[in-house]
Amino acid sequence: MQVLYRSTRGKEEAVTASVAILKGLSEDGGLFVPTSIPRLDVPMETLAQMSYKETAYEVMSRFLTDFTEEELKNCISNAYDEKFDTDMIAPLHEANGVYFLELFHGATIAFKDMALSILPHLMTTAAKKNHVKNEIVILTATSGDTGKAALAGFADVPGTRIVVFYPKHGVSPIQEKQMVTQKGANTCVIGITGNFDDAQTAVKKMFNDKELADELDHAGYQFSSANSINIGRLVPQVVYYVYAYASLVREGKIKAGDEINVTVPTGNFGNILAAFYAKQMGLPIRKLLCASNENKVLYDFFSTGTYDRKREFILTSSPSMDILISSNLERLIYRITGENAEKCAELMQALSQGGEYTITEEMKAQLTDFYGNFCSEGETKEAISATYYGSNYVIDTHTAVAAGVYQKYLRDTEDHTPTVIASTASPYKFPRSVMDAISDRYEGLDDFALVDALSALSGVKVPKAVEEIRTAPVLHDKVVDAPDMPLAVKEFLGIR
Ligand SMILES: *Cc1c(COP(=O)(O)O)cnc(C)c1O
Repeated sequence: MQVLYRSTRGKEEAVTASVAILKGLSEDGGLFVPTSIPRLDVPMETLAQMSYKETAYEVMSRFLTDFTEEELKNCISNAYDEKFDTDMIAPLHEANGVYFLELFHGATIAFKDMALSILPHLMTTAAKKNHVKNEIVILTATSGDTGKAALAGFADVPGTRIVVFYPKHGVSPIQEKQMVTQKGANTCVIGITGNFDDAQTAVKKMFNDKELADELDHAGYQFSSANSINIGRLVPQVVYYVYAYASLVREGKIKAGDEINVTVPTGNFGNILAAFYAKQMGLPIRKLLCASNENKVLYDFFSTGTYDRKREFILTSSPSMDILISSNLERLIYRITGENAEKCAELMQALSQGGEYTITEEMKAQLTDFYGNFCSEGETKEAISATYYGSNYVIDTHTAVAAGVYQKYLRDTEDHTPTVIASTASPYKFPRSVMDAISDRYEGLDDFALVDALSALSGVKVPKAVEEIRTAPVLHDKVVDAPDMPLAVKEFLGIR
């Protein structure tokens, strides 16, 4: 059955999956959503015998119905290859009575690799299908993690170029090193003298600059975005929930048909929405636990029905979840309005103009699949040390927020359904916060000394992604002021 994509704000015609991936965002400002959620019509006994790639094909082919079998299988095999340090791609680790779904075995050791290693292939395939002749130029502003994952995904992918802007003085030393050592002739990394907002604003301006678009088109280029609201990032994330469930069946931890709970450390609401889509497909998920850090907008939303972004932005030890506007929540809102695009657009307008909106009781009644809670900084530290001292397993700060919220859920509900926690980053990505939580012995060590200490403590080999940057040469050292960003892009593309 053909699945099309329409905007949550509904002014435009429904489009095919490949067009939705190329466009990223709908022109009316809404997000693309599938016109219907396909059923997972493969028997669980069959799925339980499948590799990650085979599972990915079964799930993604149900959503991306205008891709041929050959096209999709090519995308999948180009994405989930030796870039991952395990054939399992997303292995489960049982510790402290839960199953950690390790989503950090890709090139940049964070879960964004799961989607960003396939997005470039989906995008170039989509471009071919729609007879786009231009080369695709990905423009990204990053506060750290997305930039590196996008670079790693697009590096050396024919028919694409990628330009990443980051605040020169606003990212961690390891994050900067990861980006400026990026290989690939089609990659360009530029520091800017301002902060992340300056970079983000200038990038948005470039996307809307008609004159610049014409200049690019003339030279054979067009911009696109690898942002997390692209449906091409959401669909690949549905796969690992199905794979996790099937793995539990294969290992005899559950029987096909048994329910599981899923806990997701949440920022932009993309990852947990993918779990929700998996449930809608028919995967037996009972509750979706939405875990927030001290920026607990989502917890407040689930408990009161009011989404209120008017609050202080708190910098936490789980920076990838420091978000006050969870863009992907719009897709859930659309659904609980009964797919009423007008109502959805109204609420989103209230959010952008007044900073808040409140849903009706009727809408709230449809949120029973979700449980929201949050962890303070202290609770996050406790979750890291409890997991380490309880099971000799080291988790990162983001995963720790989820582990802490799961403990709260257990206390609140005494629901002992087998639970999967989405483990979104390797502890090696945040060695300082992680080691501080385990002991105060490590104070004063530099980042790479902490990496070695972590390896000694956990017995887990230092990942290639970290090992490489110790000695890798800096390949990108350009720094510009925000107003000069368009010039820098043109220079990289050889346009004058
Ligand atoms: C991006 C990110 C998250 C948040 O995921 P969303 O899909 O934005 O909710 C959580 N943990 C890590 C490590 C991330 O990089």
